[in-house]
This record gives sequence, C-alpha cells and structure tokens, in this order.
Amino acid sequence: MYNAASLKAEEFISDGEIQETLAYADANRDNTELIDRIIAKAKERKGLDHREASVLLACEIPEKIREIYALAEQIKKDYYGNRIVLFAPLYLSNYCVNGCVYCPYHAKNKHIARKKLTQDEIRQEVIALQDMGHKRLAIEAGEDPVNNPIEYILESIKTIYRIKHKNGAIRRVNVNIAATTVENYRKLKEAEIGTYILFQETYHKKSYEQLHPTGPKHDYAYHTEAMDRAMEGGIDDVGLGVLFGLEMYRYEFAGLLMHAEHLEAVHGVGPHTISVPRVKRADDIDPSAFDNGISDDVFAKICALIRISVPYTGMIISTRESQSVREKVLPLGVSQISGGSRTSVGGYVTPETEEDVTSAQFDVSDQRTLDEIIHWLIRLDYIPSFCTACYREGRTGDRFMSLCKNMQILNCCHPNALMTLKEYLEDYAGEETRKLGLKLIERELETIPNPKVRRIAGEHIHDIATGKRDFRF
Ligand code: SAM
Repeated sequence: MYNAASLKAEEFISDGEIQETLAYADANRDNTELIDRIIAKAKERKGLDHREASVLLACEIPEKIREIYALAEQIKKDYYGNRIVLFAPLYLSNYCVNGCVYCPYHAKNKHIARKKLTQDEIRQEVIALQDMGHKRLAIEAGEDPVNNPIEYILESIKTIYRIKHKNGAIRRVNVNIAATTVENYRKLKEAEIGTYILFQETYHKKSYEQLHPTGPKHDYAYHTEAMDRAMEGGIDDVGLGVLFGLEMYRYEFAGLLMHAEHLEAVHGVGPHTISVPRVKRADDIDPSAFDNGISDDVFAKICALIRISVPYTGMIISTRESQSVREKVLPLGVSQISGGSRTSVGGYVTPETEEDVTSAQFDVSDQRTLDEIIHWLIRLDYIPSFCTACYREGRTGDRFMSLCKNMQILNCCHPNALMTLKEYLEDYAGEETRKLGLKLIERELETIPNPKVRRIAGEHIHDIATGKRDFRF
C-alpha cells in the first residue's frame, strides 16, 4: 500500500506505514547501535528517511540528544551560515467558507470582524510594510470562492509587486492560500509568486476530517495532493508544514518527512521550506482544547531533527513563537523568521486595540518591531537578510538545492545577505541597529571565500551608501 512515488494521498502518506514506523521507533528507542548508525548517516549530510528520523525522535537518551543538537547546529552553519531571512505575513481577507475547528476564520464564527482589503488598502498595507524594511511577504487568505476568488489573489499580487515607495519594493511574494487546481497554480506561477505554502495541518486522515468538518478543505486527498498539482502547474518552490498540537507529534513528524520524500520521488525536488506552527489562542479558539500540545523541548527536538533529516530545506518560525523559544531554535536550523507581524486584516495601517472586534487569525507571541528583531539578531551574531535573489535569478527548485548542496552559499547568499542588510540599515534602521549592523557587515565581508566576489560585494555595499539599490549575485 505504501508508495512514496504514488500520486494518491493515502498511498504516499500511508497510515499503515506511519503506524509501523512508530512501532519500529518505539522498539528501537534505546537501541544505541542503531541510533549511532543513524546519527553517523546524518553526519554525511545525506538526510534521513522518516523511519530513521522517527527513531531519533523517540530516543530519550540525553547524550544522543546532545549529539543530535550539535549536528543540527553544525549542518545549519555549513549550509545556511549565520544568515536569517526576514519576511512578514500580509492578511488579505479573512472571509472563509471552511469549518476548521482550530481557526477563528471558520465560517460559523459570527463575532469575528470579516474584512477583505481593497487594492487601495493593499497598497497602504504594503507601503507600511515597505516602510518597516520588508522585501518579502507571505500573503494569506481564507478560502472563499466568492469573496477571495483566484482573480482577487492574482490582482493583489500584481498590486503588491507594482508598489514602489521611496526605496521600498516587495521583491518576493509567497502565497499561502487554500488548495486549488492545476490551472490556478499555473496562474500563480505566471504571477511570479515565490513559494506556494500550504500547511497540511495534520497528516492523520481521520483527525483531519474531524478537524475540518465542513467546506472544501474537508477533502483530505485534495488537500494532501495539492503540492503535486502546484508542481504540475509549474511552481518549483513549495512550503510544507503541520499545525503542531492537533495530532500526535510523532505521527505528524513521520508524515511530514514522508511528504518530503514523496515530492523528491515524484518531482525530483523536495520542499523548499518547512514551517512548524503550533496552535495558538485566537478569537474563539482555546489551544488547550486540543490534546496534543507539545512542550518547548519537544518543539526544539523536532526542529533539530528536521534540520538533520532534510538539510537542504529551509525552516520557518513565525511570530506564533515567543522571543525565548525563537532564540532556542534559531541555532538548530531555522533559516527564516517573520518579524513585526500583524495577523489582522489591515493591521499594519490600523493596529487593532483591545476594544476592537478582532479580525486576527491568532495571537502573536513575539510582538517586537522589525527593528527590534534586527537588532536582536545582530546581537546574537546572526546576519538578518532581506535577500530575494535566488528566485529572481531563476534559482528555484533543484537549482536552489544544488547551490545549497555545493556549499556555494558563502559566495552567493552570504554577500546577498550583507548587501540587503546594508539597504535596510541605510533606509530603515534605528541608530543603534545601524551602528551594530555596519560593524557586522565589515566583519562578515572578510569571510567571503572568493576574493573576486568579496571585492564586488564590497563595492556594491559602498554604492548602496550612495543611494544605489538592488544588487545581487
Ligand atoms: N486558508 C488557507 C488554508 O486553508 O490553507 C490559508 C491558510 S491560513 C491563513 C494560515 C495557517 O494558519 C493555516 O494553514 C493554519 O495552519 C494556521 N492557523 C490557523 N489557526 C491557527 C491558530 N489558532 N493558531 C496557529 N495557527 C493557526
């Protein structure tokens, strides 16, 4: 029944295979010989399959867990360096016809404020985001064929790319909208989106159906097979994720890796990113109503295991997580974080107050401004990056993966990160952030291995101070 290369959801995410994987992981959780062999394989940077990774997830031997964390940190350093890419979500509309029981946008919620941005309101929101310094957005919308049809999404993407305000520009629009048809994915590709992101929420079919009792999202197979349709429509970069807290985390973790293996088996390229959201409090949603919440330690272990299992896949942590949790997982393999986020529709121009009837999707834990986040990252020795070069240079799908595999990141992503940070420092940073950032750029320029790239990057950084923008390797 289990077949990673099948196009049927129930065959590439086979419940039987997951159950066997969990039993195998339980049986081997103390098998140090096997665990050492799996860790040795991960050290070769070839990744782990869902069975191997599940054994490590079940293992509770402190010494082995320390080894896994150290390896995750090393792999993160080798492939991603100390760069952290920044983005912000932009909520276009919270109209939704689905019945997702964990999401306040569910159709039965009558007291949430329903809002849909006009193109002019989108313009205002994007200008506010550009004025913070953002270059990369993830647009979000509920599923509603009448209020949020694909034409609305496409028009909004066009609007966003067209806005040029001062030195601002949104250079990459990622899209997080409900599962759709190949034809619509093709249209999104033509609209030049970056990553298509769709969270599976849960891989457990029965729970999935209970958690999505009504609406088009109820269809497990249609949702689970969406990434295949997206890739058929020409989208190379897809982003997976599960909503941790809904189902047993070990089940989700195995399912997530099986999904990645499936994409690799069928399309020759794995997911571009994996997100690890946890259920949060929201309007009429109480996270404690779900039985499968995970502790911060388990959360960190999952992040470390994703990093060593799929070394070439970016990992995203949103502002659902607090500063301290983000600090804990950043070194374990996170490559992208959001900053200064608002999850309400129109929230960048008009932040909600306590008295407002909320339109937000969930409560944000990390409420710092983007500048505070940049400052914090620099203090922690990370390079905040606003780079969007890869996709604009056509380095998507397996072409991005090969950049990563050939470890060209230091000659490519690293200078791009420094140049885009310099833009941020010139145009948007507070005084303290600017001082720290300039010192960091000076230091980090020296670590570019190729002397020619180092020289050119240095020249571009100088040119940015004189007003030029948008250099990239
Ligand atoms: N409507 C689209 C869909 O169905 O995929 C877009 C996704 S929605 C705007 C973004 C994601 O937010 C969802 O996929 C879900 O995982 C997450 N989400 C929903 N409710 C949440 C909550 N209470 N806490 C944290 N994340 C939540």
